[in-house]
Amino acid sequence: MEDKKVALVTGANKGIGYAIAEGLGRSGYTVIVGARDDSRRDSAVEKLRAADIDAFGVALDVTSDASVISAASTIEERIGRLDVLVNNAGISGRTDAGAQEPTTLDLSVLQTVLETNIFGVIRTTNAMLPLLRRAPSPRIVNMSSDMGSLTLQTGPMLAAYAPSKTMLNSITAQYARAFTDTKIIINAVCPGYVATDFTGFNSPRTADQGAAIALRFATIPDDGPRGGFFNDDGVVPW
Ligand code: NAP
Repeated sequence: MEDKKVALVTGANKGIGYAIAEGLGRSGYTVIVGARDDSRRDSAVEKLRAADIDAFGVALDVTSDASVISAASTIEERIGRLDVLVNNAGISGRTDAGAQEPTTLDLSVLQTVLETNIFGVIRTTNAMLPLLRRAPSPRIVNMSSDMGSLTLQTGPMLAAYAPSKTMLNSITAQYARAFTDTKIIINAVCPGYVATDFTGFNSPRTADQGAAIALRFATIPDDGPRGGFFNDDGVVPW
């Protein structure tokens, strides 16, 4: 078993996920780029290695049981342990033709968004748990959004995406309760409104700035907070 800490970041081929992988790599972690597309994954790994980061890729589509199980067994064979899991992969879902207006909500869009943003997180987390349990200080970070905050209700009306992040916060709290007497620390974080494909790069905030909160919670000490929701400014109201 390797001594170096190992982190899996889902959706790490671009955007905030790539920045998280790069940040963890620079902190000395071996980073596993979880990405569903072979060539996008390979070029991200190449770019990380060119920056002297110890990285390798695993095929990972969070919507597929077979893909997630196969990713877990690849990590089991190559490393045998996981110190950090960042559930970053996420989608906003289609918005045309009132698809995410509550009164005309397209249920197939809701289904697709939940399949990635919720089912994907649970599927990946539960498949990686046996590997995480072998680490001395396992950390799980769920990339949420303050759009999922019932108190703040920020951003445009997105009746599939926003509730998916509300549920992600809720499932994070459920996991934290399940992990109470374990070394595993799980939290949800919000990266802010960040320039990525996701937002059409319509923000001055960089992916590195968005990644910072995830890096902080991926590496928090053993007495750090559990089961909360945080951004750069501190606690985000549920
Ligand atoms: P992005 O640039 O669109 O990147 C999303 C990543 O998720 C891509 O790598 C994408 O892979 C991957 N992905 C999507 N579906 C997947 C699947 N089924 N299996 C594996 N990977 C999948 O978005 P981002 O802005 O970096 O967002 C990252 C996370 O932050 C998301 O959870 C998002 O909800 C959250 N967030 C973003 C913002 C923001 O302002 N950008 C704000 C709040 C929260 P492909 O390249 O293959 O599509």
